[in-house]
Amino acid sequence: MMTVQGVKYMSDFEAKKAILDIGRRMYEKGFVASNDGNISCKVGPNTIWTTPTGVSKGFMTQDMLVKMDLNGKVLMGRWKPSSEVKMHLRVYKENPDVQAVTHAHPLVATSFAIAGISLDAAILTEAVLGLGSIPVAKYATPGTEEVPDSIAPFVKSHNGVLLANHGALTWGKDIHQAFYRLESIEYYATILMYTGNIIGRQNLLSCDQVDKLLDIRHKLGITAGGIPPCSVEVTNMKDVVTAADVRPAEQTGSGPVLKGVTSIVRPRESQPVSGCGCTGVMQKTLTSEAQKPVEAEALGKAKNEIIAEVVRRVIEQLN
Ligand SMILES: [Zn+2]
Repeated sequence: MMTVQGVKYMSDFEAKKAILDIGRRMYEKGFVASNDGNISCKVGPNTIWTTPTGVSKGFMTQDMLVKMDLNGKVLMGRWKPSSEVKMHLRVYKENPDVQAVTHAHPLVATSFAIAGISLDAAILTEAVLGLGSIPVAKYATPGTEEVPDSIAPFVKSHNGVLLANHGALTWGKDIHQAFYRLESIEYYATILMYTGNIIGRQNLLSCDQVDKLLDIRHKLGITAGGIPPCSVEVTNMKDVVTAADVRPAEQTGSGPVLKGVTSIVRPRESQPVSGCGCTGVMQKTLTSEAQKPVEAEALGKAKNEIIAEVVRRVIEQLN
């Protein structure tokens, strides 16, 4: 390590060794296929080491890596950097505290990116603490300036983004934090898929429970991350001994009684409401007086039932 203007940076040797190590782990975990993915790491206020284009990230050697300045000028190395390094450079420009950036195409997270569903439900304590919510940045043609423009709005406020129809991008105070966030995004996306789409039930953390996690996050020094919507009702404070102990959550308001649906709101009302990671249904935007329940899933299902009923009646008439 070395210190420049009071900030610690990895040496050239440490950064290159770490990039090869993270590349191997990324490949072995199946986060990338073929020559996909890229990694970069700062070694000074204006310089990074990054991965080359056209090489599997599982089989890189030190001579393949490229040293660049933050304007994109190659300083050392014979290989060509990835065209996707543009989004790395933009992350460093938008947030000078960032020391490393990782990008890959993990299967489940990329599937959410393709579906256009953000990772945004208070279901997992570690995800609320370490990640917060992960938005989907609008589609941009890979390798163009559209990509850095699409991610720029999220770099200060979040710890990573999904790139629509593409993959995931994370950043951190060092290369390990950036990669761990990539791992956490895939883990979070997988849990969202299992609970939302396979088991079909998610007990969201209550707003009080989320508030306590946010306090811990603050004490850990994590200042970015976004806040996922939480449940108005407490749904996880009784012991479950047998499957029969699990009863459908009580509904508020009128409409059909639906299993496993709880009213949700966004805590502290500081973030715009986006799509729920479990259902893909857009939630209603909360106003400041609102501790009002948002019943996006219930509304979506009720709407589908009405459509099904209309279709049934039309078919009856035709017969
Ligand atoms: Zn990519």
